[in-house]
Amino acid sequence: MAEMTFVIIKPDSIARGLSGELITRFEKKGLKLVGVKMVKLKRKQFEELYSHLAGRPFLDEYFKFMKRTPVIMLVLEGMNAVEIVRRMCGVTNGREAEPSTIRGVYSMSGRMNLIHAADSPANAEREIGIFFKPKEIYDYKMPLTPIMYSIDELEALNAERKEGISGKPRKMPGKEDEP
Ligand code: ADP
Repeated sequence: MAEMTFVIIKPDSIARGLSGELITRFEKKGLKLVGVKMVKLKRKQFEELYSHLAGRPFLDEYFKFMKRTPVIMLVLEGMNAVEIVRRMCGVTNGREAEPSTIRGVYSMSGRMNLIHAADSPANAEREIGIFFKPKEIYDYKMPLTPIMYSIDELEALNAERKEGISGKPRKMPGKEDEP
């Protein structure tokens, strides 16, 4: 299905000049960029994003790290995007991540692990909602999509692309920009 997922390119990636490389990995895989922004994280947003970490002893230090530079937020779309992007990122600790994954290739740390990716479709929807307005998520045609999926997959994608977050019709401001 044409699922959307949420990614944060963390301050260590920005500081190391890796953001372009990480975005390129997703683009080359065939995921479609439908939302992008640079943001300085606020504490309230951070706590909302990481509500599952409430009370953990490393939280304050982690927040300090996460606001060291602005971060880049992405919304990526594609069939099974949530699971694919999580697998592309690798497990939390860069030293344990598979060597072919983003964390496995570029990170030696359990905290300085370059990237955040939503871990379920429900969390992707929730996290996108914290940082993006519906009108900041775009829909546009990518000419290469038809050679990246089979015909039956394309039919499924097209049917489901029309469904927005929570099944509400998706606002498509990007449509106006199509040639
Ligand atoms: P993931 O980012 O792999 O989904 P979590 O949601 O569990 O992992 O944690 C969020 C982030 O908090 C991690 O990516 C990592 O940067 C940091 N973190 C997690 N566990 C620890 C820890 N024990 N010590 C320090 N930082 C941690």
